[in-house]
Amino acid sequence: MDEKVATRCCIAGGGPAGMMLGFLLARMGVDVYVLEKHADFLRDFRGDTIHPSTLEIMHELGIQEEFLKRPHQEVRELAGQVGSETVTIADFTHLRTRCQFLAFMPQWDFLNFIAEHAKLYPTFHLKMQAEVTDLIEQNGRIIGVRGKTPDRMFEIQADLTVGADGRHSIVRQRANLIIINVGAPMDVMWMHVSRKPSDPGQTFGRVDVGRILALLDREDYWQIAYVIPKGSADEIRKRGIALFREDIVALVPFLRDRVDELRDWDDIKLLTVAVDRLRRWSRPGLLCIGDAAHAMSPIGGVGINLAVQDAVATANILGARLREGTPHNSDLNGVQRRRAFPTIATQWLQVIIQNKVIKRVLGGSKPLSLPWPLKLLRQMPILRRIPARVIGVGFRPEHVKTPAADVT
Ligand SMILES: Cc1cc2nc3c(=O)[nH]c(=O)nc-3n(C[C@H](O)[C@H](O)[C@H](O)COP(=O)(O)OP(=O)(O)OC[C@H]3O[C@@H](n4cnc5c(N)ncnc54)[C@H](O)[C@@H]3O)c2cc1C
Repeated sequence: MDEKVATRCCIAGGGPAGMMLGFLLARMGVDVYVLEKHADFLRDFRGDTIHPSTLEIMHELGIQEEFLKRPHQEVRELAGQVGSETVTIADFTHLRTRCQFLAFMPQWDFLNFIAEHAKLYPTFHLKMQAEVTDLIEQNGRIIGVRGKTPDRMFEIQADLTVGADGRHSIVRQRANLIIINVGAPMDVMWMHVSRKPSDPGQTFGRVDVGRILALLDREDYWQIAYVIPKGSADEIRKRGIALFREDIVALVPFLRDRVDELRDWDDIKLLTVAVDRLRRWSRPGLLCIGDAAHAMSPIGGVGINLAVQDAVATANILGARLREGTPHNSDLNGVQRRRAFPTIATQWLQVIIQNKVIKRVLGGSKPLSLPWPLKLLRQMPILRRIPARVIGVGFRPEHVKTPAADVT
């Protein structure tokens, strides 16, 4: 072993869950290592939405104002187009939060921002290009991780190991934690084309016979999520890129003059959607949070928010114990007890939408009419506050209860 370190908390994965937890623990004086296998945070497949409840947490941490000075778009309403009819689905302007909008910011900017603030605390250690490959176990207890960087092997021993390494978590796999597979009927093709100032400004979804597409405004380009039936990507590719471009234009006619920017299949990434959760999120010495504990469907774009909320709950429940030493198993279970309800309730809603809307639309061949819940939202605007609350704040929102250490 080239490098051996001992710390209070070792976090595998520098996504929203891992970075926020690392920041919160370092902020209260706990020695913490965050291990991220990539060299930077620049990856395109991640969601970009920072929700009002996450912005609330940033306010509680005293960094919200500075955060909102970074380039971002503010979305106050979400609209959907079914066939030729457009409906506002969620209206965030009535939320009882400081920010009544979704902030769209590339996730790498969000993570870099958190990293900058975490690094102000001397007990925060971020190791990039550090891939966790295994867990260290002693007498049935996880006491740390083994991993590798491009030029060395390392071992980190910790009072608590946290798996925040996303939906393909090596930590949960090595810990033999049981996964409940909820399933998803779709995958997503992910691509971007340029945006013109004259384009409609809204972020919206478009639904038509057999097709669903979401357009995310990233200022100078549109991020496009084209939803396809699970496992159908090869079939779509076989039909050829020209027909694929036509499918996009059929849903978004104003992209006709630039859809050729999608030159070949290299410009289009396939994202496989998984929805699952762990039966138990912890073992002695180990806890999983974020997508590693519960991979979320992209419906509602709530995955980052849930990951951040898990991190806040973990710091609230375990932070003080970690400062002194090793958290008890009952404390680790406490995190699951706190976060299981928001996870299960959100996944339950996502599954209803997957089965009642997405599956039917993707498998359908008849012209679509507006479903009754959307008709209701059109007739009674006040009801748009309900989806706004579920998406923007979610179930059981967390608040920062951990103190900040003095770094002067
Ligand atoms: C198509 C699609 C679109 C989505 N859109 C949105 C959206 O718009 N808004 C939203 O809120 N959510 C969205 N989500 C969900 C969201 O991306 C996730 O729920 C969220 O990123 C989970 O955060 P996390 O920190 O738990 O995991 P991740 O973001 O997956 O982060 C895990 C980190 O761990 C690192 N890692 C993995 N393995 C190792 C290892 N062995 N060692 C070290 N590091 C490792 C990874 O590189 C990564 O940086 C979307 C998901 C999909 C599939």
